[in-house]
Amino acid sequence: MSVVVEAQDLRQVYRVRRGLFKPPAQLQAVGGISFSIAPGRTLAVVGESGCGKSTLARMVSLIEKPTDGRLLLDGIDAVQPPSGERRHLRRSVQLVFQNPYASLNPRKKIGSVLEAPLAINTDLPAAERADRAREMLAQVGLRPEHANRYPHMFSGGQRQRIAIARALMLQPKLLVADEPVSALDVSIQAQVLNLLADLQAKYQLAYLFISHDLAVVRHIAHDVLVMYLGLVMEQGPRDKLFAQPLHPYTQALLASTPGVGSRQRRIVLQGELPSPLAPPAGCVFSTRCPYAVERCRAERPEARLVDERRVACHFADDFLRSGFPAPRASDNQTPSAAAAR
Ligand code: SF4
Repeated sequence: MSVVVEAQDLRQVYRVRRGLFKPPAQLQAVGGISFSIAPGRTLAVVGESGCGKSTLARMVSLIEKPTDGRLLLDGIDAVQPPSGERRHLRRSVQLVFQNPYASLNPRKKIGSVLEAPLAINTDLPAAERADRAREMLAQVGLRPEHANRYPHMFSGGQRQRIAIARALMLQPKLLVADEPVSALDVSIQAQVLNLLADLQAKYQLAYLFISHDLAVVRHIAHDVLVMYLGLVMEQGPRDKLFAQPLHPYTQALLASTPGVGSRQRRIVLQGELPSPLAPPAGCVFSTRCPYAVERCRAERPEARLVDERRVACHFADDFLRSGFPAPRASDNQTPSAAAAR
């Protein structure tokens, strides 16, 4: 199967100043994420704020260079692109931002907003650029005459349609959408999600869809990647993950979203996300996991294949066999032992 984007062990580490007399600290925002997305498919990346999903989006949309790892876009090395390929790469991936109010220049008419990518990246004459802008407005459910209006004359949902239209002007293969509907009313969200699904079917677009909202993710994603402190916790087909999550963090996220929780035990997330400057030793989720045992605090679980997904938990096989048991009473007991109590 052909793929539009392939990421292998992508990492992003920032140097953070800690004061005049202290050496800078290393903050690992993304710690080795791998995935691929085929044409017409959507990979959703979920997790709490600060889990690294927006950093991942910036790397894949070429705004930030990864510290390490490989990124292939349309088969081309996007980290060290061959000379002459930068322009092609920039056209193959486009970004849709969260806030449609802030992402459109209020002083420019919509027609000129849509024509700008063509003016910068192509040699098309002005009349053809204007035609393409009007055609694209129709594609996203707006009227061609809207090209003569300013952004403030549109509703939030219409502005997000315009932002999507602008992203599609260069006929990209990959759209990176960073919380594209979270600023919209619930009634408008469904319309924009349906538009994204229609455009994907029509143009075979690949989507990297960043969201904290699992109800939205269930609607649009084919595959899901759950992140915590820059690392993958669970990654695999949407239906598997929603029907029977195998990582306690996935289960906690599902349990906190009305209407999508699996019928398994409800796990309530306690405490705050630890600082990425001082992540817990062993399993990074161990400070909030109700099933953490001594092994979890000593040994970091590698993501491994269990029931068609990759899961970073020592006890994923137990959770697959027996579901999530009542949280254990004492240390050094495995979740399966707790289940047998
Ligand atoms: Fe919880 Fe241990 Fe699994 Fe980490 S490895 S998710 S702490 S049970």
